Amino acid sequence: DFKLFTSFNNDVLKKHTRLYATVGGRRLEGKVALITGSASGLGKATAHEFIQHGAQVIIADKDTLLGPQVATELGPSAHFVECDVTNEAQVAEAVNVAVTRHGKLDIMYNNAGITGPIFPPSIAELDLDEFDRVMRINVRGTIAGIKHAARVMIPTGSGSILCTSSISGLMGGLGPHPYSISKHTIPGIVKSVASELCKTGIRINCISPGPIPTPMTLAQIGMIFPGLTQEQVSGIVNGFGELEGAKCEEIDVARAALYLASDDAKFVTGQNLIVDGGFTSYKNLRF
Ligand code: NAD
Repeated sequence: DFKLFTSFNNDVLKKHTRLYATVGGRRLEGKVALITGSASGLGKATAHEFIQHGAQVIIADKDTLLGPQVATELGPSAHFVECDVTNEAQVAEAVNVAVTRHGKLDIMYNNAGITGPIFPPSIAELDLDEFDRVMRINVRGTIAGIKHAARVMIPTGSGSILCTSSISGLMGGLGPHPYSISKHTIPGIVKSVASELCKTGIRINCISPGPIPTPMTLAQIGMIFPGLTQEQVSGIVNGFGELEGAKCEEIDVARAALYLASDDAKFVTGQNLIVDGGFTSYKNLRF
């Protein structure tokens, strides 16, 4: 009857008001985040998004020219710390800076990564020193970040750790071997660490972006197809997604990171969130 209908509607309204309050509000208010590789590309876009949602962000990058510029650009909620992720002491120090400045670390995003050499493409000619270099940044650097975040998060019983994999970590043929191999390890690291950290209240997840027009990808496509204009290169990268009417942008990864970093994902750990506009679904259908 009408009374029942009204009360039903009120309940629905209340439920939706709660939902909108979470989705529309500042979802990282009071949180402290550290993002490695945040002087450029996806890390920078994520730092911007986190700040928009109320976080204090440590811009941790080896680039001592761009890093401070980006921190200034992002405003008083951003602070640059020099951090080469292959240098464990610098990773430890960047985490310590977050705790000293803000009293805690809520979110650690191990995002720094390199593509490494694209040529020669054959495994038969692989330069193992170059392979080690890529693994030291993409894999060992990620593990160093997880280790030092866990060091300060475990005593607090909470925290969200994010890592960056790639769709090159889901299948072969989507990047040079060292890159693809390094990115395949990330979801494994996340699973392994999640199995321990879930007992401590700390979540750990990774994101696998498809090709996004950041300086890294634009440079890579430029090398594969020399002589193209910047616009043509961007056009190639934008064309990788399969979702009609949508093109991949840095903000798409930043928003996935926002979700995993925030309490909206409080029951999500050990997962790999693929942000590729259907690229891998579409290709899988054809295999
Ligand atoms: P980018 O080159 O724009 O930014 C990478 C940042 O990492 C730079 O600021 C660089 O100075 C920093 N960095 C590199 N080596 C470092 C080190 N040893 N220590 C600390 N910082 C270091 O690249 P991006 O596209 O934003 O890539 C970010 C992450 O996303 C990488 O892990 C990359 O593999 C991954 N990814 C990118 C794409 C893409 O299409 N752009 C797709 C999938 C995954």
